[in-house]
Amino acid sequence: MDQIFKSAVPILAKIEEAGFEAYFVGGSVRDYLLNRAISDIDIATSATPNEIKAIFPNTVDIGIEHGTVLVLYKGTGYEITTFRSESGYKDYRRPNEVYFIRSLIEDLKRRDFTMNAMAMNKNGELIDPFNGQKAIAEKTIVTVGNAEERFSEDALRMMRALRFVSQLNFTLDPTCYEALTIMGSLLQHIAVERKTSEFEKLLMGPNRIEAIHLLNKTNLDQYLPSLKVSQMSIAELQQYPCSDLHISEMWGLLIYALRIEPQEVEKFLRNWKLPVKRIREIQAINQWIRYRLANGWDHLSLYAAGKEILLQAERVFNVINHQEPDESIDELIKRYDTLPIQSRRELEISGTDLMELLDRPSGAWIKEWIELIEKEILEGRLLNENTRIREWVLFCSQK
Ligand code: ATP
Ligand code: MG
Repeated sequence: MDQIFKSAVPILAKIEEAGFEAYFVGGSVRDYLLNRAISDIDIATSATPNEIKAIFPNTVDIGIEHGTVLVLYKGTGYEITTFRSESGYKDYRRPNEVYFIRSLIEDLKRRDFTMNAMAMNKNGELIDPFNGQKAIAEKTIVTVGNAEERFSEDALRMMRALRFVSQLNFTLDPTCYEALTIMGSLLQHIAVERKTSEFEKLLMGPNRIEAIHLLNKTNLDQYLPSLKVSQMSIAELQQYPCSDLHISEMWGLLIYALRIEPQEVEKFLRNWKLPVKRIREIQAINQWIRYRLANGWDHLSLYAAGKEILLQAERVFNVINHQEPDESIDELIKRYDTLPIQSRRELEISGTDLMELLDRPSGAWIKEWIELIEKEILEGRLLNENTRIREWVLFCSQK
């Protein structure tokens, strides 16, 4: 058993001592069988949240209405969720109402895919009523029960299927694939944020291009925010060595491959309801990718892009040119680091200095002067020293 499970075994033992059942469940059991790194473990139990709280002295109510209590044990938090059933799905979404039950098998039955519907007890023995191990051995994604039914209960499961294709390099079971092609339109009922979260996981998986291909083949892309993937853009994406790109860079590459017009980029990202800060970042990356496709970097553009955006844009640019993202990136960092100035804050002259020097009231002219000064300094014609800059400003303003 993995160390991460071993440290939690005493928790299962304590719950059992109190007369209840407790198991490791969900993604952690799946990832353990796949030899993948396990980020967090989920524990399911026949005890109700209040019964769990009576067993452990340190708990936090993090989702008690869904049956989840966080137990703090030896400095680590463990999410413990009461067995539940989720009948009564409304509007093709997971129901808000859940029923606590005492049967493990019933709890596993409400889970999406057979690989996610296994439990492991404290001795490392698997409870696998739906043949999850077989699905894992065959690397297939199989729904627990009828695929169409399961997707119509909760349409997000369709996105989850494709994100697992990407993350795990699995293929869709034929009935699962078929159901995706039929039920896709139900995705309209799912909150954009939830779709985006799955889509970002899909974008970061090693098999992302195949998953995007499947989004297109099953027509699911029609029900994602302004994502009309064409065969052409998939063929193009397929050629790019994009596996090491980070999430914002991946969005940048996608926007490029989808040929989204510059003036449409913001709308595209807003439709996905990404946080404003991320939208600004991706927009900037995209703007500099476009610049880079037409120009080389010079002092002015290095400065204007700023280090973070510069490196991200260059990494995507490299990928577009079929090179590894970090190709020649060290040289670029060196060039940036040796710029005479890297940000406006480093300028040895302020707006107030300029107002005094030229005896003019505050106005838009200050920004124009600052930009001129920056350009002179960056292009090596002027030293970033207060007296030198003053001399230069006076000299120019007398002309
Ligand atoms: P990850 O590695 O991304 O955490 P995961 O499979 O653990 O993958 P979670 O969203 O953490 O995914 O969900 C934990 C478990 O809850 C799943 O393994 C699955 O058993 C169940 N589950 C999650 N979402 C759904 C859903 N929409 N429908 C049915 N079961 C679900
Ligand atoms: Mg998980």
